[in-house]
Amino acid sequence: MAKIKLALYWASSCGGCEIAQLQIGEKLLKLIEVADIVFWPVAIDVKYKDIEAMPEKSVDVCLFNGAIRTSEQEHMAKMLREKSKVMISYGACAQNGGIPGLGNFFNRDMIFERAYLETQSTANEAKTIPQTSYKVPEGTLTLPEFYDTVKTLPQTVEVDYIIPGCPPEAKTTWLALEALIQNKLPPKGTVITDNVKAVCDDCPRKKDVKKVTRFYRPFQIIPDPEICLLEQGLLCAGMATRGGCGAPCPQSNMPCTGCYGPVSGVIDQGSHFMNAVASVIDSTDPDEINKIIEDIADPAGTFYRYSVPESLLRRAKIK
Ligand code: SF4
Ligand code: SF4
Repeated sequence: MAKIKLALYWASSCGGCEIAQLQIGEKLLKLIEVADIVFWPVAIDVKYKDIEAMPEKSVDVCLFNGAIRTSEQEHMAKMLREKSKVMISYGACAQNGGIPGLGNFFNRDMIFERAYLETQSTANEAKTIPQTSYKVPEGTLTLPEFYDTVKTLPQTVEVDYIIPGCPPEAKTTWLALEALIQNKLPPKGTVITDNVKAVCDDCPRKKDVKKVTRFYRPFQIIPDPEICLLEQGLLCAGMATRGGCGAPCPQSNMPCTGCYGPVSGVIDQGSHFMNAVASVIDSTDPDEINKIIEDIADPAGTFYRYSVPESLLRRAKIK
């Protein structure tokens, strides 16, 4: 039987997805029995020209992680889509924009100014900012364009399946790979997890108090290990987040930050999370409510940590 041809690529991401792919452990041996990795720049010596030379749809499956921040990433997403029969969005950055998507609260000029001119660790007397082309005696050097706005993979190319998570848990990765190996992939468009409900459904903590008069950051309190974190004033996104990870964060006394993306049927994860938080505030007095929500540090980054580009807002409007 012919082996499955597998391509893996990372765009705007931290590298955690690559590590997560290796976390399937000994199952990797099972994978390489049935699949040939034809493109994986982070791990094997392949060049862009190698994938360019492949005929259309000659790759069976591409696992693409990372958001689309630059022209190079957009080009690679489009090329890999063309070469692959099945395109899988792997991880929160590809699915919803992830942490790189928080850049949509700014624009390119603001980001370059901060990164190349303002940070305390920067010594840049010539005030050099990256250019897409620069002439040197030997010729012209080029860099990919850094876009103003981060986009998700599904906003860039057609995607067949989504594996959620920052990074995806090994069991979620294997669920998808096993379905692929057994040729039992679910209907196109499926977000692949073993729990289509919310993280709260996998969380053993008791939920019954639902009365919060103050919100805390995780370092400010030691929560009771038995009771729902949200009900103790910690901003846990479990209710607004798709299940399937097994709730490792709340089981380690840390609130869920929402990395598995929105639950089924929800477009805007951040507003769903805000709704869940509003439901536990123990007051009907507007002044008191305002005072309670003032404790929430970085509301945009808390509620939309992984999902700004995919949210209804998409980006901040900057003149
Ligand atoms: Fe568990 Fe968080 Fe849901 Fe509470 S809100 S039940 S801590 S996942
Ligand atoms: Fe991600 Fe939340 Fe699951 Fe932690 S509990 S892995 S943040 S979805």
